[in-house]
Amino acid sequence: MKVLHAAAEGVPFAKTGGLADVIGALPKYLAKEGVEVAVFLPLYSDTPEMYKQQMELVYRFSVHLGWRNQYCGILKLEHQGVTFYFVDNESYFKRPGTYGFFDDGERYAFFCRAVLECLPAVGLKPDVIHCHDWHTGMIPVMLKQSRNQPFYDWITTVFTIHNLQYQGVFSKSMMGDILDIGWEHFHPDGIEFHDQVSFMKGGLNYSDWITTVSPTYAQEIQDPFYGANLEGVLRRRQGQLSGILNGLDYEEWDPHTDPYLKENYTFRSTKRKFRNKQHLQERLGLPEDGDIPMIAMITRLVPQKGIDLVVRVMEEILQLGVQFVVLGTGEARYEDFFRWAAERHPQQVSAKIMFNNELAHQIYAAADLFLMPSLFEPCGLSQLMALRYGALPIVRETGGLKDTVLSYNEVTGEGNGFSFANYNAHDMLYTIERAVRFFHDRANGVWDTLVKRAMKCDFSWEKSAKEYAALYEEVLGKGAAM
Ligand code: ADP
Repeated sequence: MKVLHAAAEGVPFAKTGGLADVIGALPKYLAKEGVEVAVFLPLYSDTPEMYKQQMELVYRFSVHLGWRNQYCGILKLEHQGVTFYFVDNESYFKRPGTYGFFDDGERYAFFCRAVLECLPAVGLKPDVIHCHDWHTGMIPVMLKQSRNQPFYDWITTVFTIHNLQYQGVFSKSMMGDILDIGWEHFHPDGIEFHDQVSFMKGGLNYSDWITTVSPTYAQEIQDPFYGANLEGVLRRRQGQLSGILNGLDYEEWDPHTDPYLKENYTFRSTKRKFRNKQHLQERLGLPEDGDIPMIAMITRLVPQKGIDLVVRVMEEILQLGVQFVVLGTGEARYEDFFRWAAERHPQQVSAKIMFNNELAHQIYAAADLFLMPSLFEPCGLSQLMALRYGALPIVRETGGLKDTVLSYNEVTGEGNGFSFANYNAHDMLYTIERAVRFFHDRANGVWDTLVKRAMKCDFSWEKSAKEYAALYEEVLGKGAAM
C-alpha cells in the first residue's frame, strides 16, 4: 500500500504547532507497519540549511494557476527512512515563517496543484493521498477534476482535521483566477462557504474519509459549540468520520536520552527530575527551591488555549505560593499580560515570549504541573509531553485532553493528572489548588505514584499508526471493518 502525505509543515523542516509533530512522526511509524510512505511539504526559506544541502532536485515543471504559469521544483530527501518531497517556488515560499500571508490562498492552491501534477513524472502512484488541514483541502477537489485521466482514477483521499478553527476561507474570485475549479463546485455541499471559497470544505466534502486527531473531538465538532460553523457538513459525513489519537514521538521526547536536559531520568529515577527544576530556576532567575511547586504553560497564546481563564485568576494562582513559567507567543494582549505579570511578580513568574524548542524540553523536565485549560483541543501534544516528563497535567476535559488525562480519583486511586469540566476560571483555580495540595503532601506517596504513572503512560505512535494503516485498508475496500 502506497500512501502519500501532504501538509504545510513537518518536523524537522518547518514547525508552528502540533501538525508538524504529527507529520514528523506518523510517516516513520507507518513505514514500520509496512506502508510505503512519502511526504510532500513546501520548501520554506526557514527550512534548516543542513537539510536543504542534502536535497536533490528531481523534477522541474510549470504549474498552471488560472492565467499564471508558475515555476515549480520538486526536491527529494530521505530522512529517517521516509522520502520527503519539497515543493519549491521562491516567490511563494521564500519568506520568513510559514503562513499568515495575504496570498495564502494562492500559495496553497499552488502547493495542492503542484503535488498532484508532479506525481507521474516523479514516479509516484499512491493508493491514498492523506491530506492534512486546510492547506491541502483542495487536493481532493482537484483530484476529482482529474478523474477522467487513468493515472489519477483510483487514488483515494483521506483528510485529517488537526484544527477546525483554521479553515482557509478566501474570496470567490479565486475560483477561475487561481484554482481553475469549475463553478459547478461552488455550492454549500462543495467548496462554497458564505459566498466565499473554503479550502477546509474542499477537504471535508471531497475526501473519501475524514479523520480528526482524537475520538472526543470527532464527536464534539458535530456540535455547534465546537463545529466552527461546519457542524452541519460534519454531521452529514459522520458515517465517514472517525477520530484517531495522535501519538508522541518517543524518540524525540524521552527524558532518559533528551540531550537538552541537565540531568536525564526515567520513571525509576524521578528524584533526578529535581536537578532539572533547580537548573531551570537558576536559568530563569527564580528562587532555587525544590519545595515550591512549579506550574508551566508552553503554548500558542491564543483564546483556544484557555489563556482567558489564567488571566482572570492569575493573582489567586500566585497566592498559592507557586512559581509560574510561561513559554509562548501569540496575541499581543496575552504576551503583554504575561510580561506584566513577570514584572509584577519577579519571584514567582517567568514569561519567555518566544518560540524555543530547547527551553520547551527543559521546562517539561523541570515543571511539577503543566496547565492546559483549553477551550477546545483537537488532540493536544503538550499534555503528552508533560506526562512523559512527569509534569502532571491540569486540563479542561475537552477533545484530546479528555481522551488522555484522567483526573486523580482519591477513592479508586486511578488517574494521571487533574482535570475540570466547565470553561470556568474558578473551576480551574480549585483544580490547581487541589493539585498543589497533593504536591505539598508528597510524604503520603500519592504524588510520586502519579508522576511515575504519568511517565509510564503509552501514547506512542505505534498504536495510532496501526489504526491509520487499518483505516487505509478499510478505505481502499480491502481490509476488515474497523
Ligand atoms: P497546537 O498544535 O494547537 O499548538 P499542541 O499541544 O498539539 O498544540 O502542540 C504544540 C506543540 O508546540 C508542542 O510540541 C509544544 O511543546 C510546542 N510549542 C508551543 N509553543 C512553543 C514555544 N513557544 N516554544 C517551543 N515549543 C512550543
